[in-house]
Amino acid sequence: MSIHRDVRCRGPYAGEGVQAAGTECSEPAVFEVARHNRPPLRVCPIHLGPSLLVASGVLWPPDIRLVARP
Ligand SMILES: [Zn+2]
Repeated sequence: MSIHRDVRCRGPYAGEGVQAAGTECSEPAVFEVARHNRPPLRVCPIHLGPSLLVASGVLWPPDIRLVARP
């Protein structure tokens, strides 16, 4: 298991797709959300909830790990 202390949140869409325009986020990522056939999504606490609903490939029920101290 790896810890990514310098990873930044890229917004609820993970910076992917046309919906991601204008949703960039530079907060440190705290959670990692597992996705199907895609790299895990790393998000800040604010974007954890939205990302589960709008990002592509999120597993359901969600598989979430804490990767940094909030
Ligand atoms: Zn964020």
